[in-house]
Amino acid sequence: MTKRALITGVTGQDGAYLAQLLLSKGYDVFGLVRRSSHSEVTDTRLKWLGIDRDVKIVDGNLLDLSGLIRTLKDVRPDEVYNLAAQSFVKSSWQQPILTGEVTALGVTNILEAVRLETPEARFYQASSSEMYGLIQEDMQSETTPFYPRSPYAVAKLYGHWITVNYRESFGIHASSGILFNHESPLRGIEFVTRKVTDSVARIKLGLAGELRLGNIDAKRDWGHSRDYVEAMWLMLQQDVPDDYVVATGRTTTVRDMCRVAFQHVGLAMDDYLVIDPALFRPAEVDVLLGNPAKAKAKLGWEAKTSLEEMIAEMVDADLKRLSR
Ligand code: NDP
Ligand code: GDP
Repeated sequence: MTKRALITGVTGQDGAYLAQLLLSKGYDVFGLVRRSSHSEVTDTRLKWLGIDRDVKIVDGNLLDLSGLIRTLKDVRPDEVYNLAAQSFVKSSWQQPILTGEVTALGVTNILEAVRLETPEARFYQASSSEMYGLIQEDMQSETTPFYPRSPYAVAKLYGHWITVNYRESFGIHASSGILFNHESPLRGIEFVTRKVTDSVARIKLGLAGELRLGNIDAKRDWGHSRDYVEAMWLMLQQDVPDDYVVATGRTTTVRDMCRVAFQHVGLAMDDYLVIDPALFRPAEVDVLLGNPAKAKAKLGWEAKTSLEEMIAEMVDADLKRLSR
């Protein structure tokens, strides 16, 4: 029997790579897409990967429980991957209520729909290392206490615990992946890696003269989205649902990540980088460093792509996009 998967957030970075992975494994892939007046916006990432015709798009919104129930009734998925969210930390201070509605309560909506329609379906929740925020241990693992530092992180913490709660209350096969930052050529332009690689490509092509950043002392544990979606899938293949940290185990400053991007095109970062105080955040997550030991031991998962390889891939993709 062909397995059926429903991905919320299929138009996002991870949704696209996950859809590609599941298609390669022979799944019937359904993607929940919220209606937009711009049809092009909804399928650019799927098009980039050449799979826009292979994913079956279903109309829906994480805020609309009745629609989600109808979707599950129609699709009857074996696996549900909940990737949809207002996912940008900085925007969550501007739109804290929307962030709470989508990124927190939206998880309950989809879990309710699963419980009511397809309680036997396996469920994945996209949790985040941002939940560690003001870190309580140098290296964060599944047992490290959380201390969220943004409305986004607070919302994700709710999503994490409601997933655990539905597992414990109703026996749903629900797993929460605590993923550290992961990037790719399909990363949203507002996130720092992609902002950097896009700007570096523009500077190289003579289309821009500077790169403005905020806090370049912040450190992140950056991996590649293509690697991380594999961990999501592996979690749902386990007999017992559980929570896993997915990370590389290496942390790098924004400054050093940025230097890698400039070096890739043979330019000196200091000639172009401008620090803009307006880009600092009301509260910062200074450092994140994940311990992926459990994922390695139980899922056999490991990050494959180094930061240098990933940034080079992203700069090259941006050069290609801009040269078109
Ligand atoms: P993106 O921002 O690229 O994608 C978010 C997706 O959610 C988009 O498809 C978006 O649709 C969709 N969405 C937003 N609001 C709604 C809604 N109300 N109803 C239905 N769909 C909605 O995120 P990523 O792919 O990078 O991340 C995937 C998930 O993993 C997110 O939940 C994110 O918070 C989480 N995460 C990501 C990390 C990372 O480093 N990338 C780290 C840890 C967790 P549209 O195209 O219409 O905007
Ligand atoms: P986050 O970890 O989910 O918030 O991912 P981001 O890529 O948005 O930000 C990573 C880090 O880069 C944070 O500590 C930001 O404060 C820092 N940063 C510095 N300058 C910028 C910038 O111009 N844009 C973004 N998005 N982040 C920046």
